[in-house]
Amino acid sequence: MYDWLIVGAGFAGSVLAERLASQRNERILLIDRRNHIGGNAYDHYNEDGLLIHQYGPHIFHTNSKQIFDYLSRFTEWRFYEHRVLAEVDGTLVPIPINLDTVNKLYGLKLTSEELQEWFSQRAERVPEIKTSEDVVVSAVGRELYEKFFRGYTRKQWGLDPSELDKSVTSRVPTRTNQDDRYFGDEFQFMPKHGYTSMFKRMLDHPNIHIMTQTDYDDVKNIIPHRRIIYTGPIDEYFGFRFGKLPYRSLRFRHVTLDQPWHQPVAVVNYPQTNDYTRITEYKYLTGQVHARTALTYEYPSAQGDPYYPIPKAENQELFKKYERLALTTPDVWFVGRLATYRYYNMDQIVGQALATFRRINETLPAETDTTTARLMPSSAALAS
Ligand code: FAD
Ligand code: UDP
Repeated sequence: MYDWLIVGAGFAGSVLAERLASQRNERILLIDRRNHIGGNAYDHYNEDGLLIHQYGPHIFHTNSKQIFDYLSRFTEWRFYEHRVLAEVDGTLVPIPINLDTVNKLYGLKLTSEELQEWFSQRAERVPEIKTSEDVVVSAVGRELYEKFFRGYTRKQWGLDPSELDKSVTSRVPTRTNQDDRYFGDEFQFMPKHGYTSMFKRMLDHPNIHIMTQTDYDDVKNIIPHRRIIYTGPIDEYFGFRFGKLPYRSLRFRHVTLDQPWHQPVAVVNYPQTNDYTRITEYKYLTGQVHARTALTYEYPSAQGDPYYPIPKAENQELFKKYERLALTTPDVWFVGRLATYRYYNMDQIVGQALATFRRINETLPAETDTTTARLMPSSAALAS
């Protein structure tokens, strides 16, 4: 008899399991169809003893002290500021585009002030910034857009930046100084012993029962539960009744090289060449000392596990139909990147889950009565 069936053991499901168990003393069954906890943030030691991220590089960054403090209960941290280079016209230059990027690429010696002028001479006037193309051409002009963004975005999303919402390329700023950090957030750290270790501590509670390799469909009619938190794809939950919501997938190629280092920074992006978007070298992220080095190549694909909701007006319209359906059905709370169809980072998902917990706490008395259990949810509420 469970108070909550939580579907998905990623950040959304795990944070809620931890809160509901520790703060409301409720009994949780946390399931995941994969054979591990941690969702897309799952990391593990590969056969060569190198700590790798199974689903591509995950770098923690946030401006929220509340979120950072919450996670700090379950992990120590390793200070790490992420740096990325892009291979453009045969050379490696910093991305986000900054003063050094332009000076190196064009053999110039501009100052920050001169670079501002250089950008404004090239920037295109866009009356209303709507698309991912608009964002970049209005900041740095068409040439740098083509070199750094057009090819990468087409590869990553299978769409031209002009077809994608502005929020996608807005994730990457433009700088006129020499700051070459990928993120500008106040807190930038990696969990000292890895993400999976952090998840294990988060879920280490007598009220939390975990079942991996367990699909929601296989247990929903068998295991008694009162309420559901669902963190999988929302269209799947509703049997795709309005049609499939598009999610972008990736294929990861993990390799170990018999040499200590491969590239000068953790991630190198390939906006102009290759069929992969980027190569990650984990030792930069983890600080691990090892004679060998582990890399992951990312190949975008339309088929496969859903990793990215695709920010585009028509997809948002379709999502809204599912969202409306969710809102008319209490007792199921939809949380997380797939269930709320939002291109959110880990910290945003933690924030969303903590906010959901607060809402649950405000609206539902803690369960003590065991007579109202049911097998099938009749209704859902959307938590976003
Ligand atoms: P998920 O981690 O996807 O967890 C959902 C879980 O639900 C999955 O484990 C899935 O197996 C399970 N599930 C789904 N349906 C069912 C079902 N029917 N039955 C049972 N189980 C089910 N964020 C950052 O902050 N920094 C980064 O550097 C970063 N890099 C990223 C790189 C890549 C390649 C990707 C794809 C994402 C990256 N993210 C990054 C985003 C981060 O992965 C997400 O914000 C976060 O993992 C979302 O957590 P979640 O719990 O919502 O979803
Ligand atoms: N992007 C790009 N070139 C780059 C880096 C990013 O065109 O060198 C665009 C691309 O559309 C990408 C988006 O900016 O999907 C967001 O980049 P981010 O690094 O945040 O992607 P994520 O790590 O989420 O895959």
